[in-house]
Amino acid sequence: MRSDTAPAIRLEDYSPAPYTIKAVALDMQLAPKATQVHARLTIRRLTDTLPGTPLVLDGGGLELTSLSVNGAAIPVESYTVTPDKLELLSPPSEPFELEIGTRIDPDANTQLEGLYRSSGTYCTQCEAEGFRRITYFLDRPDVLAVYTTRIEARKSEAPILLGNGNPVESGPVPDKPERHFAIWHDPHPKPSYLFAMVAGDLAHVADSFTTRSGRNVDLKIYVEHGREDKCDWAMDSLKRSMRWDEEVFGCEYDLDVFNIVAVSDFNMGAMENKGLNIFNDKYVLADQDTATDQDYANIEAVIAHEYFHNWTGNRITCRDWFQLCLKEGLTVFRDQEFSSDMRSRAVKRISDVRLLKSHQFPEDAGPLAHPVRPRKYTEINNFYTATVYEKGAEVVRMLKTLVGAEGFKAGTDLYFQRHDGEATTIEAFLASFAEVSGQDLSHFALWYEQAGTPLVEVESSYDATAQSLTLKISQEIAPLPGQADSKPAVIPIRFGLIGSDGADMAFENVEGAEVRQDCLILSQRRQTVRFSGVSERPALSLLRGFSAPVKLHAPEKDQDLAFRAAHDSDPFNRWQASQTLATQSLLRLVRAAEAGEELVADSVVLDVFGSILSDGSLDPAFRALSLQLPGEADLAREIGKNVDPTAVLKARDALRAALGSTHMDLLRAALSQRESGPFDPGAEAAGKRALANQALAYFAASGASDAALIVNDLFDRADNMTDRLAALTLLVHGDLPGAQAALEAFRNRHETSSLALDKWFMVQATAPLSSTLKTVRDLAGHRLFDENNPNRVRSLVHAFATGNPSQFGRPDGAGFSFVADHVLALDARNPQVAARLLTCFRSWRAYEAQRSSHAEAALQRISEAENLSRDSRDIVDRCLQ
Ligand SMILES: [Zn+2]
Repeated sequence: MRSDTAPAIRLEDYSPAPYTIKAVALDMQLAPKATQVHARLTIRRLTDTLPGTPLVLDGGGLELTSLSVNGAAIPVESYTVTPDKLELLSPPSEPFELEIGTRIDPDANTQLEGLYRSSGTYCTQCEAEGFRRITYFLDRPDVLAVYTTRIEARKSEAPILLGNGNPVESGPVPDKPERHFAIWHDPHPKPSYLFAMVAGDLAHVADSFTTRSGRNVDLKIYVEHGREDKCDWAMDSLKRSMRWDEEVFGCEYDLDVFNIVAVSDFNMGAMENKGLNIFNDKYVLADQDTATDQDYANIEAVIAHEYFHNWTGNRITCRDWFQLCLKEGLTVFRDQEFSSDMRSRAVKRISDVRLLKSHQFPEDAGPLAHPVRPRKYTEINNFYTATVYEKGAEVVRMLKTLVGAEGFKAGTDLYFQRHDGEATTIEAFLASFAEVSGQDLSHFALWYEQAGTPLVEVESSYDATAQSLTLKISQEIAPLPGQADSKPAVIPIRFGLIGSDGADMAFENVEGAEVRQDCLILSQRRQTVRFSGVSERPALSLLRGFSAPVKLHAPEKDQDLAFRAAHDSDPFNRWQASQTLATQSLLRLVRAAEAGEELVADSVVLDVFGSILSDGSLDPAFRALSLQLPGEADLAREIGKNVDPTAVLKARDALRAALGSTHMDLLRAALSQRESGPFDPGAEAAGKRALANQALAYFAASGASDAALIVNDLFDRADNMTDRLAALTLLVHGDLPGAQAALEAFRNRHETSSLALDKWFMVQATAPLSSTLKTVRDLAGHRLFDENNPNRVRSLVHAFATGNPSQFGRPDGAGFSFVADHVLALDARNPQVAARLLTCFRSWRAYEAQRSSHAEAALQRISEAENLSRDSRDIVDRCLQ
């Protein structure tokens, strides 16, 4: 039996709701198994709506306990109700008050949408469609209401009661000495997905912030008792975010309080509910002993991201869920810019592009590809994707390139001013920039409409006599499900022509494409671009700063890449040149591994990496990134089809070992420079740790006789999580002596820190060893594994599926089968997390025949399961399509 396939919802079918809700007064009587919610909704018929038009409210598994209109109970024949829908057949034509009583069971809510309990704390998650699991409502983002929330609970169970907006009143409940209440009022009209409440026994840390117009804002971060000392970094990040948004975007905070609550059971990273952000605790809690440098950077970015939503998402929200990128793409762009200003811009850009290529490019090339603004969905939860977020941010970045920094600032100013308080669209967003810049952005808008990553191919030729450089450029998107043809897009290609002295050369004139400063604007399927007045054959540096989310193929000799890896004035392209060089070399090694030949690394790669390792003039964080080889998944993506993950792993291992043994002396020198002294989570100190640990990784790969000893020593001596985890990973992934003892020591040390324990699971799940599948199976039955905690599931099963290509893609199919088992088990409890896990099969067709048939069988088994959720049904159908 198949579960029913839900009907697709289409952008072209959008129409406003016939009624709107102007005010919401909620009274929530909390109890673990039977919470009573009383909602009083002030409803108004739109002028275009005929009197007597039925009012249909969304529900999600609700039990109706009372219903009245304007204070009077209504007869049963004038409405219909199911757990998922409440319909008033003939509502009043004048504005009216609808009162709805519902009863819900927070304890039984394992899907973590709506109201649920996490470690005894009541909390909510309403984006995208969770509010309908609290009360019947017009649960869509274009219905903006002012909310007043009264929360009542047992004082012993929930001494802290939090809602959106500002606190109004609190105190004991008359005649019920064991209960107390709090009332919160949010004066800013908002969609229901931004509703939140939290009640529990929580500790907090407090600080304050004065906005530029003098508003004093009380800042609080709520956590479980005993974790207050892990909030300093998050609070510091929040204050820096608030100041930065005023300085850079002119956006000021607008309430008297800003609260953050960290909970341990959370489906997403964090949620920007108005004035009450709720966070997965991994993006709040940090200290030297339990958080890595990457964790610190992530906390800074996610705190900023959610805070920045106050303007891009909350004050100006989405008209419908197709416009999700309106808030997410723009807000990711904003948090990337914030992190760039806090840290090294080049390093941040490289990290972001690595993420884009590893997550979004495969999505955009397979069965789950969709435009940045999708045109249809069956389950909106499945569209919180790398395409909407990361590619959405790249589109905003291109927009800034096209209209220039000043035009971009003027455009965002106009957008904020014109649409404040509205639920709007991508068209309205683009119109602001078109207006201030005078540019026609209609062709550019294709980036929101078209799926797939454009492949830009460039052939260059230099004519020494004419002193001219000719580029033949084409752009193409391979056919995708539902998109046979593609149209050429506007693609800004920042570039430089590098002379033999390593400096950028001047040129006289360009024909065949528009050039704005250092940027070539492509817009046609094929273009021939001619530069004149070019005095010598240049090394061509294209797509500087990764100015567009495209795949660039511009054939380049290893020696030219090596030259650019040393001389390109654009740090991103300097990094890219060394990566491309390593990729070309690794692909040759993969072919050798598949042919059973000896694996010999290219000397030019070894030389370039040696130069980076020994160049003390470069930023350590940049050197660490430049020394990282492309990942196994990156190589699989380059290979594209008939992928054999075992050959990919062998090739990568061979190059790592060659790098280690060739540069043994440089590596030993780098290891001896490891700094001691008090821990500093800042970017500079983190960069030094990253470089030292990258050097250690190559040293361990060299097979040096004292490698295990040195790694074990670092593990024992490490005074911070970054170094300890780096050493543990090398021990476990290299199957080195001492690995088991280190795992045990790590577990004992961190037994009470669930975030650190997640790392313990993850290290084992990502070990590229043939024994790993058995280990992972055993860990799934471990007393510390909790199948209801999304972070723990992600740290084991998801990490195995996405972070261990050779073992997930075992030739016998057992890796696929293991993950399929977990998808099915999870689906009944938490469909959102199950569907997310299922997306790890998205590139199954790229495997060689044996593996792809095993993957297909695993997908078929999921597809044939009874009662599959709508979330998982949607993904599996698209994967098999
Ligand atoms: Zn967001």
